[in-house]
Amino acid sequence: MESVMEKLVSLCKRRGFIFQSSEIYGGINSCYDYGPLGVELKRNVKELWWQRLVQKRSDVVGLDSSILMAPKVWEASGHVAGFTDPLVDCKKCKGRFREDELDGGDASKCPKCGGELTQPRQFNLMFKTFMGPVEDKANVVFLRPETAQGIYVNFLNVQATTRRKLPFGIAQIGKAFRNEITPGNFIFRTREFEQMEMQYFIRPGEGEKWIEYWKEERLQSYLDLGIRQEKLRFHEHSDKELAHYAAKAYDIQYEFPFGWQELEGVHDRTDFDLQRHSEASGKQLSYFDESTGERFLPHIIETSAGCDRSIMCLLADAYREEKERVVLALSPLVAPIKAAVFPLVKRDGMPEVAEKIFTDLKDSFSMFYDESGSVGRRYRRQDEIGTPYAITVDTQTLEDHTVTVRERDSMQQQRIADSQLAQFLQESLQKRSR
Ligand code: ATP
Repeated sequence: MESVMEKLVSLCKRRGFIFQSSEIYGGINSCYDYGPLGVELKRNVKELWWQRLVQKRSDVVGLDSSILMAPKVWEASGHVAGFTDPLVDCKKCKGRFREDELDGGDASKCPKCGGELTQPRQFNLMFKTFMGPVEDKANVVFLRPETAQGIYVNFLNVQATTRRKLPFGIAQIGKAFRNEITPGNFIFRTREFEQMEMQYFIRPGEGEKWIEYWKEERLQSYLDLGIRQEKLRFHEHSDKELAHYAAKAYDIQYEFPFGWQELEGVHDRTDFDLQRHSEASGKQLSYFDESTGERFLPHIIETSAGCDRSIMCLLADAYREEKERVVLALSPLVAPIKAAVFPLVKRDGMPEVAEKIFTDLKDSFSMFYDESGSVGRRYRRQDEIGTPYAITVDTQTLEDHTVTVRERDSMQQQRIADSQLAQFLQESLQKRSR
């Protein structure tokens, strides 16, 4: 029997959400391409994050920093020396594992074949390349393994140009690259992925207050995307798990089909980052408080989410198998298509009326028009890609300008005047966004 993950991967491919990268060449391990529906879903996830973190707040501004940065950034941040995972090899089957992920059982034995494992070696996860035509050590640059450092090194630029007072945040969405030892579980862990990070600069001593605030705020954002509450939880890092820069750290975890795993990290990074970059660059990344006359290094609370991982969570949470259909019960906020328009039959002037409705709504909503096959089949096709509403033009429409609107999850139908459709869609989307 196919597992839920296998079914999801196949649905994503069949319906144009996500394809294996370079598939015609046999693919490349752990790299994926977002197809026509996937890219809409991804854009919605990023847009909602940006609206929530930047647009709707008065204390957070945005940034888009470059992927390639001065190599000194990664020395100061601790990534050159310490962004490593312990790699172990199986002497028998040659399998490769992260030692810290070998939980349960005998950690000295291969989890696949029971063979003997090598001693762990520290493996640096940063991808390297060369800047310019000469491939020597002096020209090595790294593909950023996180977007956060682009924010720290721009702290003064942003603070000076926006004249922000503490507390304030800087948010950024962008690609990150990690040469993961064990990528897998579809888009859950890949080597190229997109992060949505926000760094919140605060006064020293206020870490506890703000980490509590951001934990709750970020958890709420997943609930507002319709993720089931019982599938979400916090995991507090133990002393052993804490990264070198963090004073306190929580993961927001989701119960994926393959178990509870991190969705987002909320970390109290203290003044570690600004301190390190001040020392290494010689530029004081400090803050001057005009009201008290004090100068100090702000502390940072970070919220670090994976966009692709959020999509994995949304898909896994939305997937339902019912008697006669498969439904992606995606929140209308993220659904790639908000409504589909069908003429009941392909005659009697119904396609023309349906096309007009489709064209009018298309200016404001992502829409789909379909006139092929039975109406039942058309409903099923939309259910499977998570379209919240299907609008059908039938004989009655030709008489009184009303249409049938079918809701995806309940399959209930109601008649609505075609002139009211835009308002209906607008209101149902707003309702879900609170
Ligand atoms: P892990 O311990 O699972 O490797 P991490 O603790 O190193 O992850 P962070 O550095 O906190 O992860 O990254 C922040 C967020 O970025 C994660 O919560 C996740 O959503 C996303 N992320 C990190 N690595 C990957 C990856 N390889 N593929 C997809 N998303 C990732």
